[in-house]
Amino acid sequence: MTQPPPPQSKYIISAIEATSMAESQNLTIPQLLPSLVKSAQNLAVPSISKFPVGAVGLDSDGRIFLGANMEFHGLPLHHTIHAEQFLITNLAAHGGGPKLLYVAVSAAPCGHCRQFFQELRGISETQIVITDKDQEDHVYKPILSILPDPFGPYDLLDKETPLILEKHDNQIFLKDQNFIVQNEKTPDLSNGVYELIIKNQESLKKEAFAAARESHAPYSGCPSGVALMDSEGRVYKGSYMESAAHNPSMMPLQAALVGYMVAGGGGGYERIVAAVLVEKEGEGVLVRQEETARLLLKHISPKCDFQVLHCD
Ligand SMILES: [Zn+2]
Repeated sequence: MTQPPPPQSKYIISAIEATSMAESQNLTIPQLLPSLVKSAQNLAVPSISKFPVGAVGLDSDGRIFLGANMEFHGLPLHHTIHAEQFLITNLAAHGGGPKLLYVAVSAAPCGHCRQFFQELRGISETQIVITDKDQEDHVYKPILSILPDPFGPYDLLDKETPLILEKHDNQIFLKDQNFIVQNEKTPDLSNGVYELIIKNQESLKKEAFAAARESHAPYSGCPSGVALMDSEGRVYKGSYMESAAHNPSMMPLQAALVGYMVAGGGGGYERIVAAVLVEKEGEGVLVRQEETARLLLKHISPKCDFQVLHCD
């Protein structure tokens, strides 16, 4: 699920930068993480709870990734992106891993996030600190100490099935090649937006397909991916990531919104003018994203053009 990290993202700190930040404060890199939690919280969009959550993770390559909660007022709560899920999506999308070694979070992870962490191989080696609880000393403890007796991927899958942060190559091909801008005849796509979508259609299609191919859908066998385009023609992709416990799964549109935020999209969702979803359809297909994605998109960017392309 890899793409090059966007330059100078507030959500990713390179290994070199992380080392120099730690050295300048006379800290080890794991000790540095708790001091970055506030910055992560400042990136939150907690429009319902007003409770900003920040999550900061160190991967085995020495890079630091940030995550924050994103809420969507006016929609059912299950559309919410939790900070820890944001962090894992950020890692997965930008070549993080292969292991997540340390995590610092502002508040105790909810059950949903404790469960989602299970989708990472080697999670039993991950150490966590909860900064609002462990106040001054910031002592790490094994993440499994807050999720004893877990139900996880190995209860349903064989040990060889790739998990999140591992290479996925779902064997799918695109059935629908036709790109039909659905709002063509409406005034919604004014100011050159229609032309911009047409100009970038191959890129949108390619990125949404790549996101679906790289998605983590071992429980349903229904991979999916979303590509978004902003009003300047920049494209952001997001891959669906399932959880063994189903509900904590990360929907592809939510993952693409994480990609948008990490690349500097900032919260102005109305700047998103086009979205393409790639997923399976037809009899025997157990999971589909189209209607839930349409609902969220219509709410956050009512004029956004939305296309669904099917794969097999
Ligand atoms: Zn959570």
